[in-house]
Amino acid sequence: MQSVHCPCCNSENLSQVYPQFTGTCIKSDMEILPKASIANRQCLTCGLIFNAAGTRGHGEAFYRDSYSLMLRSLEASIQSFAGVAPISQAERTHQILREMTTLPAQGRVLEAGAGKGDFLTFFAKESQNWDICAFEPSGAFETLRARFPAADIRKSDYHSVDMEIGIVDLVVALGVLEHVDNPLDMLRWAHARLKDGGLFYIRVPNFERNPNDLFCADHLSKLTAPSLNWLAARAGFEVVALREAGVPIFILLRKSAAPQRVPDDVVEKNAAIIANNVAVAKRAMEAIVNCRARAAEAKESFAIFGLGSSGLFAPFSLGFDAGDIAAYIDENKSVWGSSIHGRPVGGLDMIAKLGIKHVALAVSPVYFQQVTDKLLKHDVKVYSA
Ligand SMILES: [Zn+2]
Repeated sequence: MQSVHCPCCNSENLSQVYPQFTGTCIKSDMEILPKASIANRQCLTCGLIFNAAGTRGHGEAFYRDSYSLMLRSLEASIQSFAGVAPISQAERTHQILREMTTLPAQGRVLEAGAGKGDFLTFFAKESQNWDICAFEPSGAFETLRARFPAADIRKSDYHSVDMEIGIVDLVVALGVLEHVDNPLDMLRWAHARLKDGGLFYIRVPNFERNPNDLFCADHLSKLTAPSLNWLAARAGFEVVALREAGVPIFILLRKSAAPQRVPDDVVEKNAAIIANNVAVAKRAMEAIVNCRARAAEAKESFAIFGLGSSGLFAPFSLGFDAGDIAAYIDENKSVWGSSIHGRPVGGLDMIAKLGIKHVALAVSPVYFQQVTDKLLKHDVKVYSA
């Protein structure tokens, strides 16, 4: 690779971060990305952690043509296990916004990358007098438009969205910022779209709690609370609230006229997160190596629990046949019955059905204990990072 610059501050002062890989990669929608690279870096000037390769530079075509997360059915949605009972990620995200602020009775909301409109459905129910604008670059656009016939819905990404949308009271970007080439550019774009004092509500996967994200080719930025605080200040936002809940991190920003103090401790804070996460990610791969080896020795079957990137990436990064994996097990019912690398995806009942004796975890460390306790009741040996 030629000289690499930080997408946010343009610095060439970068350190390499595990892994460095070229071959078949995994995207966050669980599909494969052939002939791609992972070239993770930390910027030693601003602190940003990013993949210098992956889908960088061809994002727009990528989302238009191929991004398929949860498009399989309208009911399919990511579950949040952070609360008492599992509720949809969209509902939880909406609840947290309402906990962070009280919105006026009327206003104009713009959701960037609104997907099928799951969040906006909850939002519109509670804020019935708000105007809704949204755009979505992927095939989810058709569903979004059908769900909000009276709203201003465009098939676009934020670079090319029509400026007729005008000035809004609230911009929402859920699971978007980690995908764009330059997250600072997107914050500045939102700043320009907002009225003074307007709000920007963001949800991203919290890299600090998701070491597996090192293996994800299309999460171009591995965002952390320190990085989000840095980006907010640089773009002219003050932080209203920041909440870590499960794997996601939620942050509500207010457009400010006053200059913001840009934090200067992001490099060292993120370096500590990287050190911890690289160790966990390497152990997650070792857990799969050990699980597969023990199963082979005993001539027994093994499975991978969770659809985290480590488990999806393992056959490619470790160079074994995905056919060795008896099944992928997950608790999100909406993925049951599907397949990954030709292997079945199902619930815990797969253990008895397929005679599985060994299970490696591919979930966030936040859930290691919870999942291990559940699996041990099924008489399997559990391998975790
Ligand atoms: Zn930088």
